[in-house]
Amino acid sequence: MNPDIGQDGEDGAILDVIDRFLRVEVRPHVKRLEHADEYPTAIVERMKEMGLFGCIIPVEYGGLGLSTATYAAVVARIASVWMSLSGVINSHLIMAAAVLRHGTEEQRRELLPRFASGALRGGIGLTEPDAGTDLQAIRTRAVKDGDHYVVNGSKTWITNSGQGGCIALLVKTDPVVEPRHRGMSLFIAEKGPGFVVSRKLQKLGYRGIDTCELRFDDYRVPASRLVGGVEGRGLQQVLGGLELGRINVAARGLGVATAAMQDAVAYAQQRKTFGKPICEHQAIQLKLGEMATRVEAARLLVQSAARAYDRGERCDMEAGMAKYFATEAAMENALECMRVHGAYGYSPEYDVERYFRDAPLLLIGEGTNEMQRIIIAKQLVQRNPA
Ligand SMILES: Cc1cc2nc3c(=O)[nH]c(=O)nc-3n(C[C@H](O)[C@H](O)[C@H](O)COP(=O)(O)OP(=O)(O)OC[C@H]3O[C@@H](n4cnc5c(N)ncnc54)[C@H](O)[C@@H]3O)c2cc1C
Repeated sequence: MNPDIGQDGEDGAILDVIDRFLRVEVRPHVKRLEHADEYPTAIVERMKEMGLFGCIIPVEYGGLGLSTATYAAVVARIASVWMSLSGVINSHLIMAAAVLRHGTEEQRRELLPRFASGALRGGIGLTEPDAGTDLQAIRTRAVKDGDHYVVNGSKTWITNSGQGGCIALLVKTDPVVEPRHRGMSLFIAEKGPGFVVSRKLQKLGYRGIDTCELRFDDYRVPASRLVGGVEGRGLQQVLGGLELGRINVAARGLGVATAAMQDAVAYAQQRKTFGKPICEHQAIQLKLGEMATRVEAARLLVQSAARAYDRGERCDMEAGMAKYFATEAAMENALECMRVHGAYGYSPEYDVERYFRDAPLLLIGEGTNEMQRIIIAKQLVQRNPA
């Protein structure tokens, strides 16, 4: 069973190619790369050849031009085999979406073909040591100097920033203006003098992919890289991208929840206790029933949010619901899958322990699940005035 979002026609053909790629070129290498925390260089090269770095970039800019619904299906499939691998394209494409939606035509023509081919890869640089959820508290500063801005400050937990060549960098261009978001701007910052990758971070899961601390020491970024060419719009540009980011993360959750369910179903038919396969014990059947229901509900929520996004509708509530539910489903299914496996679930010989280490990230990234429920509630009130 694949974590299908329900595609057919040409998109179905793309999903078949992805399935074969995952089966033949990815799955056999996952355990070794993940346990060694080794960047999957050869696999990333193949992803470039397949055009995956341009999944949602329109064809006119060199991308595959997939709908968000198909993209979510691609992400869910990749995450069902190795969640880290979906991270290589996810934040890269949030950066691309910021340029696509908010960049000038000149920025689109210059950057999107390079992003689509994977020649220039990257992610999003928002979080700082003292500012994650409260992004308006960031302190990294950019000061205009002729046709450049000079950047000083630091970022942390930035995925794809070690192996990638650039990031969408959120800075303060005016640190005193109120409201604070009016002083925030977004740049596409390519590596160069003063852009320092200070440390690769150790992680519980999501290994093999680079998540780093960055420092900016008088780093000069051309003013032509200010997204949209206007200061003060960075936070809105980033928050708009987070709808797509939440659908990404929800799709990853769907992938991990599906993999955990599939492994549990397979193991429960092989393992025998008291003379029969454990899938015939009611306690295990209850777990399998709950796991499958979570997967199906997550699939429908991801599909609904992705389709709303494709229709150009405001979908922060739908994306929030999908992100919240599908990622909690991943965590719960990973734990239940571990229980079904007994002691073997605790062994690195099986994939279960990886699902259990990967899933918690999904509860945190692209807005914590606490924040998702607050966003859902606020939208609920706004859409239903008394
Ligand atoms: C592996 C990994 C990869 C990452 N990759 C990236 C990346 O590529 N780019 C990037 O910019 N960031 C990245 N992050 C950072 C991630 O986005 C932040 O960790 C996340 O936004 C939460 O911020 P924080 O960790 O500072 O938590 P905090 O903001 O300090 O929150 C701590 C707790 O308080 C709660 N909380 C905070 N404010 C409120 C409130 N108003 N109401 C209720 N509860 C609240 C939160 O829900 C959470 O439970 C990554 C993180 C990890 C672990």
